[in-house]
Amino acid sequence: MGQPKILLLGPPGAGKGTQSSNLVEAFGVEHVTTGDALRSNKEMDISDLGLEYDTPGEYMDQGELVPDEVVNAIVEKALTSADGFVLDGYPRNLEQAEQLESMTDLDGIVSLSVSEDELVDRLTGRRVCDECGENYHVEFDQPENEGVCDECGGELIQREDDEEDAVRNRLDVFAENTEPVIEYYSDRADFVDIDGEQSLDTVWEELQAAVEDTV
Ligand code: ADP
Ligand code: ADP
Ligand code: ZN
Repeated sequence: MGQPKILLLGPPGAGKGTQSSNLVEAFGVEHVTTGDALRSNKEMDISDLGLEYDTPGEYMDQGELVPDEVVNAIVEKALTSADGFVLDGYPRNLEQAEQLESMTDLDGIVSLSVSEDELVDRLTGRRVCDECGENYHVEFDQPENEGVCDECGGELIQREDDEEDAVRNRLDVFAENTEPVIEYYSDRADFVDIDGEQSLDTVWEELQAAVEDTV
């Protein structure tokens, strides 16, 4: 039996990235995250696709979804090279969910639920490591030394799309495009919903138990 293949769903700010780091450490899976992959390719030239913008970054800074054809290719490549994985940030619409079905079989699907007010507080207070992508929060998850990553010593910065206007737009994009994806998966027998508004440690205990059940 190989390592687990886990899909982690939830709105922006639900704690997917934070809890994915725990899964990587505990289960030795790979973290496949479209957000990080796209951030390292923000300036990639996609002008030959004839889309609205010529780079992924132009979509991202406004909180809009990057077109499916760009994102699907990134995920397909990452999943074929991974044994076990936690997939975070994808699928974000029903077309992507359909693509995912043709790429791999999942062992477990976990959704983190968090209310909108809490999401705004979490996203506007989020700080990320410029080097390794680790997530922190100015109030809820502080590093040992202010502004410095515990994991690698990198500088902690605020993402451009974590400013309030872009945050509101991302939550609208989520409600319109990604909520139907969660509904779609919620009918499956292996779907688990976790109250993501609990403490970091309690969410982790419940998530760990859910993933242990799949192996
Ligand atoms: P996502 O990847 O789902 O967008 P993150 O893991 O980046 O979410 O978390 C968003 C912000 O909320 C981060 O600043 C993180 O430190 C904080 N956070 C995550 N989980 C919790 C929690 N259970 N309670 C309080 N703050 C949290
Ligand atoms: P969050 O912390 O809000 O969950 P991510 O880091 O997952 O944010 O994503 C940041 C941005 O990258 C999104 O707002 C979007 O522009 C783009 N993006 C990430 N994943 C996808 C996807 N599956 N489809 C389209 N765009 C994506
Ligand atoms: Zn770091």
